[in-house]
Amino acid sequence: MAEAANAIEVSNLHKRFGALEVLKGVSLEARKGEVIAIIGGSGSGKSTFLRCINLLETPTSGQIMVHGETIAMKSDRAGGQVPSDRKQVERIRSRLAMVFQSFNLWQHRTVLQNVIEAPVHVLGVPKDQAIATAETLLRRVGLYEKRDTYPAFLSGGQQQRAAIARAVAVDPEVMLFDEPTSALDPELVGEVLSVIGDLAKENRTMILVTHEMKFARNVADRIVYFHGGVIEEQGTPEQIFDAPRSERLKRFIQSAH
Ligand code: ADP
Ligand code: MG
Repeated sequence: MAEAANAIEVSNLHKRFGALEVLKGVSLEARKGEVIAIIGGSGSGKSTFLRCINLLETPTSGQIMVHGETIAMKSDRAGGQVPSDRKQVERIRSRLAMVFQSFNLWQHRTVLQNVIEAPVHVLGVPKDQAIATAETLLRRVGLYEKRDTYPAFLSGGQQQRAAIARAVAVDPEVMLFDEPTSALDPELVGEVLSVIGDLAKENRTMILVTHEMKFARNVADRIVYFHGGVIEEQGTPEQIFDAPRSERLKRFIQSAH
């Protein structure tokens, strides 16, 4: 298959929960290696959008393409659609990694065990090799000393750095971050942003939902503003932060400072 230029292509995505239409036709392409920051008010559909890309939610309609592969869908009885090819879903999921607001580490496993879990059990990497990679990653996020610690004994910032190491351990081509610092005490935000900023410099495609405007401006190639289930405006950080066109975006940026 020819190498696709876009890592992700979403076309006219709609998602409804019962009577509530949360995504009302969102189209977005992410080039390989591009870092996109999604901003927008609470309830605007940002998480739902990421969850659809990661196949944690099934879109009501629309198309999602990951690395040139369109996710095969079939209609379900509820009037929406569901992925129809389980093998394809597994294949696509193994190239994506998502980091959540709430860390989502396995509490009964040490930091190291968390990081090697998917490489060993999903990708079939030999255990000693997975451990060597995990230790390198843990050094990188500053958690090597904590490798045998259980999550409950870590600060929120340390847990999130461990969750990021775990996400990177599968060497994903696309990383999705959903407000990775929103659950952290203010003094712990910086250490996590610095790890994410580091990753953003690698040639990995990243879509990042964040309320950290300064950070978004610094790391993102493109900023996408969600409002009411649509992309209201998008552009370079300079366009969005220095010369926003929509009144709503202007107000949003002012309120975020
Ligand atoms: P954001 O991340 O921008 O804050 P979300 O995507 O989480 O927004 O949610 C958008 C809207 O969809 C909200 O009104 C939320 O209550 C609703 N919603 C999200 N997930 C579900 C669900 N599983 N069932 C019903 N409503 C949902
Ligand atoms: Mg959200």
